[in-house]
Amino acid sequence: MERIDCVVIGAGLIGLAAARALAIAGRDVVVLEAEGTIGTGISSRNSEVVHAGMYYPTGSLKARLCVAGNRMVREFAVMHGVPFKKVGKLIVATDAAEEQALTVILDRGRANGVEALAPIPAAEAMAMEPQLTCTAALFSPATGIIDTHGLLLALQGDAEEHGAVVALRSPVMGGTVGEGGMEIQVGGTEPSRFLARTVVIAAGLASCRVARSLGMPGVPADYLCKGNYFTLTGRMPFEHLVYPVPVAAGLGVHYTLDMAGRGRFGPDVEWINHEDYVVDPARADSFYGAIRRYWPSLPDGALEPAYSGIRPKIQGPDDPAKDFMVQGPKDHGVPGVVALYGIESPGLTSCMALAEMVRELAA
Ligand SMILES: Cc1cc2nc3c(=O)[nH]c(=O)nc-3n(C[C@H](O)[C@H](O)[C@H](O)COP(=O)(O)OP(=O)(O)OC[C@H]3O[C@@H](n4cnc5c(N)ncnc54)[C@H](O)[C@@H]3O)c2cc1C
Repeated sequence: MERIDCVVIGAGLIGLAAARALAIAGRDVVVLEAEGTIGTGISSRNSEVVHAGMYYPTGSLKARLCVAGNRMVREFAVMHGVPFKKVGKLIVATDAAEEQALTVILDRGRANGVEALAPIPAAEAMAMEPQLTCTAALFSPATGIIDTHGLLLALQGDAEEHGAVVALRSPVMGGTVGEGGMEIQVGGTEPSRFLARTVVIAAGLASCRVARSLGMPGVPADYLCKGNYFTLTGRMPFEHLVYPVPVAAGLGVHYTLDMAGRGRFGPDVEWINHEDYVVDPARADSFYGAIRRYWPSLPDGALEPAYSGIRPKIQGPDDPAKDFMVQGPKDHGVPGVVALYGIESPGLTSCMALAEMVRELAA
């Protein structure tokens, strides 16, 4: 049986960033990816926003890794020519209760060390964005947008330059903990078995399933929470990203731009039982109401179904929000294994900071 120093399961943003960090640290890394190409999972179905980190409880992994990751991803994008725009984000309130929520976000952002987050008067926000209606706002200049596919390719390229190998069409089917490491069975057209000294489980929506198939203890229950997007026909209303105050399980139906300047609204919150990416046009009804709170002149019929992504939740619809779960040998007791669960937003922003954490836990 072939022996491998380090196996990373999953070639999404987290797996590729982890593979890069491990390869730079001198480890021999093989990334096993089930699909025929990299990044076809959650990493290509998101808002492509590099968040600043004001939403998450102070001291949580989400807060710390998002604030650190924002800077790391921006620097990496500049160095590797990945398209990135620091467009800035307005978080807006439209009534007294939402103004109160803004105050909480501002305090949290400051405690989390978010760069340059500031309250601005409603008049100033509406002068920045003439089609906007609000009663108060926060401005986050450190929030930006990135070409996610460019980021995936640059992470893969840098990992490979440092000796990592990405094996496509190589689904991990199961494994057992044995002497000297974990024995991993790989399916696909050429089934094989490896003995790996270090294993990183970064399989996105499948992370819990893969961990169970490897006999890992302490795997949390997992849930699927879909987020649907609608694109806008006609003229784009805003130049900045515009977010309402967050809702349970999501950041609220917000306005984001892609690198080509096209606007879209989403994601909403839809708890589901199996992976299904079809966007039901009827969901537009609730979008109109939510968006018109801050953009009253949204024309009838302007929204068209676009795409959806699925959040890998480790809490159910009625449970409080959970932090990223990153388990190393001290947490689950299995030598050499680092498992990542519940890597939802801000996972894109945090990918390089998460990778550093994985590298340390795998050392
Ligand atoms: C709707 C939505 C919007 C979001 N918006 C943002 C945002 O604006 N900003 C932000 O910071 N974050 C955002 N996120 C979060 C971010 O997209 C994710 O945290 C990140 O992409 C997760 O990457 P990943 O590598 O863990 O998962 P994935 O990209 O899904 O990668 C996992 C990989 O593992 C592979 N795999 C699965 N099973 C196996 C197996 N058995 N063997 C081998 N390979 C396997 C899959 O094929 C896949 O390629 C959003 C998420 C969603 C759902």
